[in-house]
Amino acid sequence: MDNGIGGWVTKRAFLNGDKTAFVAGERTLSYRDVERRTNKLGSALFDLGVRKGDRVAALLFNSVEFMEVLIATAKIGAILVPINVRLGAGEIGYILADSGADTFVVHQPLAATGRAAVAEPEVRVRNMITVGGEPSNAEFRYTELLDGGSPEPLRAYVEGRDVAFIMYTSGTTGRPKGAMLTHDNLLWNAINVLATEQGLRQSDITVTVAPMFHIGGLGVHTLPLLYVGGTNVILPSFDPAATLKVMALCRATVQFMVPAMWAAITQVPDFDKYDLSALRLAMVGGAPCPLPVIEFMQQRGVPFTEGFGMTETAPLVSILDAAHVVEKAGSIGRVAMHVESLIVDGDDRGVAAGAVGELIVRGPNVFSGYWMRPEATADAFRGGWFHTGDLGRIDEQGFITLVDRKKDMIISGGENVYPIEVEQTLYHHPGVRDAAVVGGPDERWGERVVAVVVAAPEAQQPNAEELIAWCRERLAHFKCPREVHFVTELPRNATGKLLKTDLRSRFTGVAGGV
Ligand code: AMP
Repeated sequence: MDNGIGGWVTKRAFLNGDKTAFVAGERTLSYRDVERRTNKLGSALFDLGVRKGDRVAALLFNSVEFMEVLIATAKIGAILVPINVRLGAGEIGYILADSGADTFVVHQPLAATGRAAVAEPEVRVRNMITVGGEPSNAEFRYTELLDGGSPEPLRAYVEGRDVAFIMYTSGTTGRPKGAMLTHDNLLWNAINVLATEQGLRQSDITVTVAPMFHIGGLGVHTLPLLYVGGTNVILPSFDPAATLKVMALCRATVQFMVPAMWAAITQVPDFDKYDLSALRLAMVGGAPCPLPVIEFMQQRGVPFTEGFGMTETAPLVSILDAAHVVEKAGSIGRVAMHVESLIVDGDDRGVAAGAVGELIVRGPNVFSGYWMRPEATADAFRGGWFHTGDLGRIDEQGFITLVDRKKDMIISGGENVYPIEVEQTLYHHPGVRDAAVVGGPDERWGERVVAVVVAAPEAQQPNAEELIAWCRERLAHFKCPREVHFVTELPRNATGKLLKTDLRSRFTGVAGGV
């Protein structure tokens, strides 16, 4: 194994040194530039005491710096912990403490939140590095640190089975868990992406606008393009018209975005004025994509594919290819080249073709376990297969269709919302006796967060606005309910399990589910 992800860049700098790796605003960096800068940053991190296996947390918008931190960390064998930039200080503090990160790289506009997170209990950050703006006392300035590092090649020996990233993702129970992705997991994901029908080539250019802190933003095109020596044009935030303009200007050839982004792009009023003639592949994933969005792009001659993936699988599991995307709409396609899948019943026994059960998968892209959570890991890998928590069926041709999520998750605008986290926040309000959170359909975001609340009899009845404001103070905005309904009792079964299906059909008009 040639030094993992860091080795990909070193090899590309050797073979295709002049090739453009990253473009961001006015800046263009070749593979040779990236190699040199990440050697410097890696040696500077090493001088700060960062060693193989140490955790480096990053609270960064999509940027060249994000990629530099990722590559430099990989080169010295340390582990990157990317953090969602929309989280609050308490949520970030939990991730810093749980991962045991001792180095924390933060973009200047997020520095106040970052500092508040560092002050949370059990956080052990020693080195805080700020990107842009003025660092406060005892913090390091990114540019100074990088300038002071040595450009000599780094000598850490990184093996494929070493952990490259810990990415936080939730289950139905408890708080977010860190999924450990190895260098090999990311390599095999890149191979799986390359082996899809449209593949990826060195001449490909993409606009990286899906968030890099999420595996969708990193794993679908960004890292595989780094592997083949392609070009990532990096946008710090999503604006539909601005993204379209950049796609046209840079002559993007392949483009991945989550459904809410594609839906917004296709609604830009003068869409057809933008020259997308270079675009040879549009890809969506992360949540079900509305058919009109797919048809809109296909009518313009752009092949559209839908991928299904997860953080734990780095991420690609299956792909609905352009030839089937309309005919088989609603399916997540067939498993990628080096992924195996099965549908099992509640006792982990395979079911007949067409019958519904839990989707389980295995392959070299599947993560190595949850950080410091042996029980959750053992449970997820029962029988040697990773249990996705998604319920679905596979037809005789191998097309998988998901019917529901066993794990109860809501996906709103590409962000995962775990009802339990929102419910727990609501429970803490003195005027709330019981609460349930479900997802309802939302034209713009795919799904919206809907709360159903039983008010405490003794307290003054809270109103909906008050409860939404309460959540907004404690949770990232995308997790906050858009609607609150009041009931006198929540429907529960004999064992006390909430009957969310009833709630969904009563308050969101969505029938079915578990
Ligand atoms: P994450 O770990 O954040 O990537 O979330 C993974 C989950 O997103 C999966 O387990 C699915 O429930 C959902 N998901 C991802 N891609 C799709 C898709 N194309 N269609 C439906 N659900 C999807």
